[in-house]
Amino acid sequence: MTLITRILPRKTPSLLSTLRAHFHSATPNMTLNLESSIVAANEGYVSKFSASDENLLLPPVKEVAVVTCMDTNIMPASALGFKLGDAHLIRNGGGSAREALRSLVVSQQLFGTKAILIIKHTDCGMTTFDNPTLHGTIKKNLGVDADGEDFGAIENIEQAVRDDVEFLKTHKLIPEVVRGNTTGWIYDPKTGKLTKVV
Ligand SMILES: [Zn+2]
Repeated sequence: MTLITRILPRKTPSLLSTLRAHFHSATPNMTLNLESSIVAANEGYVSKFSASDENLLLPPVKEVAVVTCMDTNIMPASALGFKLGDAHLIRNGGGSAREALRSLVVSQQLFGTKAILIIKHTDCGMTTFDNPTLHGTIKKNLGVDADGEDFGAIENIEQAVRDDVEFLKTHKLIPEVVRGNTTGWIYDPKTGKLTKVV
């Protein structure tokens, strides 16, 4: 089974073959098409845009930082009811607290956030591979040895949420007040529902 098949368990086989063909035929032209659609969309956005004095302040209004996955099926601001200026949203593959630590420290020490939400999700792509599989793919595709790298594969989502919360609550760079306001959640992309784990 190829990595693409394993990484996209929610997609249909026909979509997978389309994606594979897409990757293999990627050209600079594709990037240009994407760029022009983004520029057009942004022009529409700017024409309706208005910023308030409140949301232009650097400290987040709700004094919270959210760490969640880069998954395309999560729109954190919509799911959590956040407006511009409300919260720091930190995203990476799997919503890893370890990877987000640098941003969390900046968020707390310089911009006064006092709470952290760790939000992972069901059907996460990070549960579909392990380090040796990705090391092999990298070797094959790039000819590079990345065997020492940990790409943060997840075996069990709920356990990963608990581990990340524990990691933050015992980390010397996370202040006591924030530790007490650090919670872990699982989001379901099929229903939009957020469930508290810890
Ligand atoms: Zn994910």
